[in-house]
Amino acid sequence: MGGETFEVPKLKSSYPKLSDHPVGQWIPKIYKDRIASFYGGGQYESKNLRAMLTEGVVSGHPHIQLSVWDAPDLSRPTFKEATRHEFKPTSVGDWFGPSWSTHWFKAQITVPSDLCKKDHLELHWDANNEGMVWSEDGNPLQGLTGGGERVEWILPEKFRDGKEHIIYVEMACNGMFGNAPGGDSIQPPDPNKYFQLGKAEIVAVNVEARHLYIDIWEIGDAAREFPTDSWEQHKALKVANQIIDAFDLGNQDSIIQGRKIAQEYLGKHASSAKVYKSGNEPLVYAIGNCHIDTCWLWPWAETKRKVARSWSSQCNLLEQYPEHRFTASQAQQYKWLKQDYPYVFDRVKEKIKKGTFQPIGGSWVEHDTNLPSGESLVRQFLYGQRFFESNFGERCRTFWLPDTFGYSAQLPQLCQLAGMSRFFTQKLSWNNINKFPHTTFNWVSLDGSQVVCHMAPSETYTAEANFGDVRRSVTQHKSMDQDPISLLAFGKGDGGGGPTWEHLEKLRRCRGMADTVGLLPRVHMGDSVEDFFDKLQQKASTGTDFVTWYGELYFELHRGTYTTQANSKRNNRKSEIMLRDIELLATLASIKSGYKYPKKDIDDMWEAVLLCQFHDCLPGSSIEMCYDDNDELYAEVFKTGERILKELQNVLGVHDVSGPGVKGTLVALNTLPWHRREIVPIGDHQAGVACGEGNLLSVKTFKVAETPEVTVEEVRSGVFVLQNDQLRVQVENGIISSLYDRKAEREVIAKGGKANQLVVFDDKPLYWQAWDVEVYHLDSRKELSSSATKIAKSDAHQVSVMTETKISDKSWVKTYISLSAAFKGQQSYVEMHSEVEWQESMKFLKVEFPVDIRNTEASYETQFGIIRRPTHYNTSWDMAKFEVCCHKFADLSEHGYGVSILNDSKYGFATCGNLMRLSLLRAPKAPDAHADMGRHHMRWAILPHQGDLGSTTVRTAFNFNNPLKLVQSPETLDASAFSNPIKLIGDSSLILDTVKRGEDDEDVSRGELPKRKGKSVILRIYDSLGGKSRGTIQTTLDVKRVWKTNVLEDDEEEIKFAEGKIDITLRPFEVATFRLQL
Ligand SMILES: [Zn+2]
Repeated sequence: MGGETFEVPKLKSSYPKLSDHPVGQWIPKIYKDRIASFYGGGQYESKNLRAMLTEGVVSGHPHIQLSVWDAPDLSRPTFKEATRHEFKPTSVGDWFGPSWSTHWFKAQITVPSDLCKKDHLELHWDANNEGMVWSEDGNPLQGLTGGGERVEWILPEKFRDGKEHIIYVEMACNGMFGNAPGGDSIQPPDPNKYFQLGKAEIVAVNVEARHLYIDIWEIGDAAREFPTDSWEQHKALKVANQIIDAFDLGNQDSIIQGRKIAQEYLGKHASSAKVYKSGNEPLVYAIGNCHIDTCWLWPWAETKRKVARSWSSQCNLLEQYPEHRFTASQAQQYKWLKQDYPYVFDRVKEKIKKGTFQPIGGSWVEHDTNLPSGESLVRQFLYGQRFFESNFGERCRTFWLPDTFGYSAQLPQLCQLAGMSRFFTQKLSWNNINKFPHTTFNWVSLDGSQVVCHMAPSETYTAEANFGDVRRSVTQHKSMDQDPISLLAFGKGDGGGGPTWEHLEKLRRCRGMADTVGLLPRVHMGDSVEDFFDKLQQKASTGTDFVTWYGELYFELHRGTYTTQANSKRNNRKSEIMLRDIELLATLASIKSGYKYPKKDIDDMWEAVLLCQFHDCLPGSSIEMCYDDNDELYAEVFKTGERILKELQNVLGVHDVSGPGVKGTLVALNTLPWHRREIVPIGDHQAGVACGEGNLLSVKTFKVAETPEVTVEEVRSGVFVLQNDQLRVQVENGIISSLYDRKAEREVIAKGGKANQLVVFDDKPLYWQAWDVEVYHLDSRKELSSSATKIAKSDAHQVSVMTETKISDKSWVKTYISLSAAFKGQQSYVEMHSEVEWQESMKFLKVEFPVDIRNTEASYETQFGIIRRPTHYNTSWDMAKFEVCCHKFADLSEHGYGVSILNDSKYGFATCGNLMRLSLLRAPKAPDAHADMGRHHMRWAILPHQGDLGSTTVRTAFNFNNPLKLVQSPETLDASAFSNPIKLIGDSSLILDTVKRGEDDEDVSRGELPKRKGKSVILRIYDSLGGKSRGTIQTTLDVKRVWKTNVLEDDEEEIKFAEGKIDITLRPFEVATFRLQL
């Protein structure tokens, strides 16, 4: 034992025993900030990576020779018109204008021989405004945005021959967001803006340097935005700084070296489409889009060019980036493109066939959903889907509406009925009170119909495809418990032209990074929005229960849009009603009298009305120019409508009561589907009583003996009492101090309350003037006092008193309060008509009705139904609804009794406790400096009723908006003229809302889709009160078969039909469409 020796292996270590030199820990902030100065602008741009982005730049003579033709009078001529003119020489540095003018440039381009061999040549053109590059032979090739955005156009290979080539550039004197002065884009446009052509040059691009630029941008973002407790962040910082250290100005090898270092973080394929082929499961599905507002801070005429510019740019990018997919909604924009830019339309069509350009949305425009009627919403889908189907062979399956100011509770039902079971939006991320709690969820309609809804967690529809957008797609995703995937809608909107090459390159880096270091969610390209929703619906069908949201998606912002631009809203309501009348009467005439159904006129009218419902148009948030366009278009609609109605009156054998000396039978023209008995004025102090059911109602002379007269009396000085058999109205200085229901024996007005009180509020929202009214406006309430009231009319059939109210030195209101003789068994109401001269600035005019009713919820008519909203401010969600949207009526009822406020052209309302308040006029000064200035006429009414909210209110509101029209017939009409060939009997909650001809009937069709044999009548019926409703359609028409269809008129279920009777049952608030095949 002992004495043995073991050989100990000598540890060979290179670890030095002594410290060689001090090494410090990086100061993260400094190393982070250094990254931006490596590729950003500023004092180092001539010494950093930017200095190597180009390999040669030439401009001016002899490489680019410019000449220009200025289009006169703000016209927007076509290529052919423009190029017929003589062009005069011009050069970089020259100025062009004024705002909205167009200038056509001819560019004679000769590439110098040393640049001909370079990898990648571009024309860089920047005049700080929008432009379009045209080929010499007149094809629009690509849009230009200006101001440093999308200023490059890739020169074609054939330009490298050293010879002269010609292109044209069409310059539009407006920026992406129109022509606002200064930096505040919603201020009214400056008509005198001028634009300097700052850049027109041929650039040889250093492709590798450009790639490195994107590499370091994304790695830099990872270093800046990843959490500092992640190794991924530290690694990004390290890699980025190594790239900077390797850089050697002027040395191309250092660029190549930098790109190699970048691969450590981004992987090998981060600058090619291959990056998406890793096979790993992605979480974020990116889709290119370019939200083009159909009008907003520019008129429709400019939108047409924005569409052509943006979509041709995208066609180019789709050819350069195989993974790229681009989606665009709004049939109207496709139709404009088809009409004005057939070359671009053909390119788009070819790409739709390939699947890279993807139509979406299924609607005519991206419309407002608060204000249009139910039938208008139906037609948005009908006209939209028919356009997509007839032009591209397919309907859309997803309703795409990223930017609208709140979403009607009936949309899920109407989407489903229009073949769309999915919905994409994100606007609720703008809520300024409550945060909407879901990303992916089932959205449920009033009738129980649902669609799967996705709100992009990146909270934008014009993402810049930044690292942060991809990251937020996970960090802000609120429905991860059900499913983690999300959509990323990226691309510049409104003339920015959609995705840029930078966006596509950045997303490649993001994917490469996700597959190489992780932490960032994997982004995917190459699928469609439909593919994305297929995944969600697949998940739902295999057991995932998505969270539900019942009822409207109320937008907690932009509440002023229910009121701004009152004329536009009035025109919308009137044209919807006119179209309803025309379709109903033309349908019957075309079946009974061989009248040719005026399909083209009806289509033109509808398309105009639908266009004006665009989400910045009808809501009132566009510039003045847009409302001039609106007025013109509506005037055309009304002119066409009047002409058709005249034709239809002829078919009915009646004509206007205008010509003197014409003797005949007086009748009333009616288009509503129920029994009506109403007073119709006949000349001065005379009235008739129209009574019956059908399109013509017989008119008898008003006889006091049969209908007790209505009276007005000044009971005390300045105190008037208007009284009929049912109501006693006391008016003092224009306000109603008492409204006594004589049948119910109760006072309607709250004790001490002043009904019909006009009030004015200061209206200065935080920013978005035309859009917003903020909660604090309520604190500035001011009652307007009125002059003494006078008796204006005292006839046996109707009495009225008139009061003038001064708002300011320039503004006033003249209000008529009228009461008509009451008919037994028919609820009487108090009617107001106001003439307003409105010349205010940032004020809000409303009229109040404090009523003796108590309920924590009020009811508001919405499309095809009623929506209930709180009358209190319990929670921030309740409080947020301090101003809401209603259609023809709002109602506050308690058990057994209630009060409805009817209107003929208004949409803004509030009920706070027992105070009902109808919004009348606003006076925002941006973006239209003259919004709502001038003269207005409006009508509203107080309808008290016994019992709960019911068909009395619904029908009276219809009647109020559809006054009977007195006409005369030279001959005695036979009995059949007074009966309706289509009747709906049964529950009074059922409303026969639309009667029209089948779109594809062979005698109606305009040939866009296959014709259907024979004639058919389409009936749209809904339950208006929210209960199961049963009824019977009775018809004397020669009906062969009956189908229940969707709103696109696809037959879905055959319905039993016998002896002219069709029994129907509807779900609460169901919208049902029936096709009667004759
Ligand atoms: Zn928009």
